[in-house]
Amino acid sequence: MSWLNIYNITKPYPNVNAFQVDEGMKDMNYTTHDMFVLADNFYQSMGLPAMPDNFWKYSMFTRPKNRSVVCYASASDMGHDKQGNEDVRIKMCAVVNANYLYTVHHEMGHCQYYLAYNEAQPPEFRAGANNGFHEAIGDTAALSVINPTHLKKLGILKPVDAETKHQQNINFLLRRALEKVAFFPFSISLEFWRWDVFSGKITNQHLNAGWWENKLKYQGIYPPVERTEHDFDPASKYHVTSGTPYIRYFIAQVLEFQFYEILCKLSGHKGPLHLCDFQGSKVAGRHFRKMLEMGNSKHWEDILQKLSGSCHVDAGSTLRFFKPLTQWLVKENKRLGNKIGWD
Ligand SMILES: [Zn+2]
Repeated sequence: MSWLNIYNITKPYPNVNAFQVDEGMKDMNYTTHDMFVLADNFYQSMGLPAMPDNFWKYSMFTRPKNRSVVCYASASDMGHDKQGNEDVRIKMCAVVNANYLYTVHHEMGHCQYYLAYNEAQPPEFRAGANNGFHEAIGDTAALSVINPTHLKKLGILKPVDAETKHQQNINFLLRRALEKVAFFPFSISLEFWRWDVFSGKITNQHLNAGWWENKLKYQGIYPPVERTEHDFDPASKYHVTSGTPYIRYFIAQVLEFQFYEILCKLSGHKGPLHLCDFQGSKVAGRHFRKMLEMGNSKHWEDILQKLSGSCHVDAGSTLRFFKPLTQWLVKENKRLGNKIGWD
């Protein structure tokens, strides 16, 4: 379940339309293939390489009609073909809308990472600096693309007056926050639960109760009906049943804002962070590519240090990105006398 589902009932300015990206893309007769070309052009505009021929030949962009496939979007590093040509691919069942436009940039970010370290590193070091890095690359680009500045450049968003613009921005930031900020307590409650199970702090007699204690502590939510140890709610999450680590997504989401802010600075952006679009910045692209090329040949802290000047994962960029929304929320909560937090 995604927190985005409550966007329509929590929208700050209910009468102001959100950015109508889906409609804008339809008006401009975008095809699914166009979304991939758009993403490829975006990375190229920063001086990063074009997707190789094999990418266009072997990727699966849409759901095939003649067979059933796993549609969960993914990117694959196939290394090189017999002729020594680069071979990276995306598999997904895209349709034309803003969510898929985001996913296309995300998956192509994995491909850019593969291409960079495959060229620069011996096989031992052809991997992300850590698992969070790999997930953060494409999302960093997507933050620059699915934003008002860039979408206007593409002609997908129509110009509006100043007040509507401000209200649209606040709506846009809340939407993003439901996606990104609400994810932090969710992911941390999941992984803390699992670590406590591994360490024995949460016992077998307490598995479900321990799950909900974490949910209440970090997310401020509790189940709508009574739950007992006959239930096992953690199993509703794929990554729990499949034994897939989850902290990488938490780290990735801090890193993507951190990378984004650094690239924005390098591109010379001035003004609110959420309006930054670093498309076309060769300087930002050069630093980005340098980081990708390092693969995991050094400790991730050293790699982060090279790009950002600091070896610390820092959520400050996330705070700065959402600053206008935070200010709006503080004011609004004060006006309504809302109590913040939970017991
Ligand atoms: Zn991914």
